[in-house]
Amino acid sequence: MKSKNSKRCNPLCHSRESGNPRLNVNSEICSQVSEIYAWLDSQIKSMNVDCSGCGKCCDFGSFGHKLFVTSPELLYFCENSKPPKKMSTGVCPYMEDYKCTARDLRFSGCRIFFCKADDEKINKLSEQAIKKFKKLCDKYNFPYSYMELSAALNCAELSF
Ligand code: SF4
Ligand code: SF4
Repeated sequence: MKSKNSKRCNPLCHSRESGNPRLNVNSEICSQVSEIYAWLDSQIKSMNVDCSGCGKCCDFGSFGHKLFVTSPELLYFCENSKPPKKMSTGVCPYMEDYKCTARDLRFSGCRIFFCKADDEKINKLSEQAIKKFKKLCDKYNFPYSYMELSAALNCAELSF
């Protein structure tokens, strides 16, 4: 998964301007992000992927893996996990003892990636999910961005 647009690094600033009437809109966006995750989880379930849950892929530095997240997902994550944790190493700050401590909130990239899965199927699912997040941004005039997790969490942390 590669970054396509990292120009707007902090959509949360946009969404938190003082007196911003978008706050209700943001809660609608969050509700729809949750629906997209439910759709994604059902798609993944039907793929019957093999995962031991070892958590090694959340240590990006060692695993040689990058995770990119979209702006509506970052909004959803930060609305439900305040304040967001800063990412200062190559390891996701939400991983503890190789377990995800933010499982219900985890990003689409976390849900879709499986080291033993068919790349073609994974890429297709990822494209479909991104299309849905872009459509959501268009619907609510929310700035779309797609950025690496460290950049996303580090700039989100500054918003709180
Ligand atoms: S949010 Fe959870 S699943 Fe995603 S990278 Fe972090 S620890 Fe791993
Ligand atoms: S996808 Fe692979 S590396 Fe990641 S938790 Fe599952 S088995 Fe471990």
